[in-house]
Amino acid sequence: MKDIVETLQAGAGKQFINLSAGNPLILPEVEQLWRDCTTELLASSEYGEVVCRYGSSQGYAYLIETIASDFNRRYGLDLNNNNILITPGSQSLYFCAANAFGGLTTNGGIKQIVLPLSPDYTGYGGICLFQDALVAYKPTLDVEEEAHTFKYRPDFSQLSITERTGCIIFSRPSNPTGNILTDNEVGKITALASPYNIPVLIDSAYAPPFPALNYTDMKPVFGDNVIHCMSLSKVGLPGERIGIAIGSSRLIQVLESFQTNLCIHSSRYGQAIAANAISSGALANISEQFIRPFYQKKFTMLEDSLNSAMPKNLPWFLHRGEGAIFAWLWFKDLPITDYQLYQQLKKVGLIVVPGSTFFPGLREEWQHKQQCLRISLTGSNEEIAKGMKLLAAVVQTVYQLS
Ligand code: PLP
Repeated sequence: MKDIVETLQAGAGKQFINLSAGNPLILPEVEQLWRDCTTELLASSEYGEVVCRYGSSQGYAYLIETIASDFNRRYGLDLNNNNILITPGSQSLYFCAANAFGGLTTNGGIKQIVLPLSPDYTGYGGICLFQDALVAYKPTLDVEEEAHTFKYRPDFSQLSITERTGCIIFSRPSNPTGNILTDNEVGKITALASPYNIPVLIDSAYAPPFPALNYTDMKPVFGDNVIHCMSLSKVGLPGERIGIAIGSSRLIQVLESFQTNLCIHSSRYGQAIAANAISSGALANISEQFIRPFYQKKFTMLEDSLNSAMPKNLPWFLHRGEGAIFAWLWFKDLPITDYQLYQQLKKVGLIVVPGSTFFPGLREEWQHKQQCLRISLTGSNEEIAKGMKLLAAVVQTVYQLS
């Protein structure tokens, strides 16, 4: 990531096609929603209370009530205010959870933070103060050779959940791959964790009801040992830092205490405008009507561009595009590393993210780790089409020279 920033800064004047961004685009309908909610807040008698005062660590009461009633109605749940915590972004939630449930224990032992399917979100790499506590598992691969597509599955023959496990984390839909673990796979993971009372954090930063960046059907999962984690960063509020944890009150209480010590609470302005957007139903509507179709079309566009540009005789595979704002490519038997490929792509003006950054906690050698790239769907249609042609040309040369 540092290299990408330096390249873009140093290359002022040079036209790069930058398909590395994890920052969502600013869609006009989304920006308008937040402007409207801000106008509403400015005009309300709550403004001073919201902006000029500290609040509770658990979060702004109206936002918490709004989420509880929205989710109860939407998913037939029975949530009350004690089941919800608002955090300053979901990243801080993972940090609190990893160190509260995992890491160093009072008797000097280590509780593991388990990532059941690697690759996964690179931001999990540094969440634990005890680096060794993070343990990730290699997946199995469903490959469709003819179609040049594949899908990762958790490898339940290897996944080990024991009394040494502190908590489990995975993103669904996944950054970087766009994978969505099936209900059945999630059920198996929570069932493995349940006998030990191990919290399972389901990172739903791209899930429905907002931002609803799922292109195949998926149901959010809740449960006694599940902490359903959300973020408002992909619905236009990354700067306001708002994460949401939904879970049993005993787990929420632990996280709230950790958060009080860490940072007191999340931005109250952001929480207040979010409450308005959720209670009116506008946030879920905009997610379904604008955010989801926008990125879904980008994925189809990227898939078509790849299919027409990439040589059919090479072993390239696109991960099934089930959600999120990325495409994930695997080049089987790639003669160079992903980082070297990234450097060669830079030379022709294309920036993507080398895949090896997305295997935090996976210590074992696995060539696959050096054979993937993450491509962001935040480029324009022209950039994506041109970028895929550049990629195809470079990849062809790389395989031919080997
Ligand atoms: N989880 C996933 C899967 C993400 O992709 C991101 C950000 O890109 C985050 C968590 C962190 O988001 P937040 O802005 O809520 O801290």
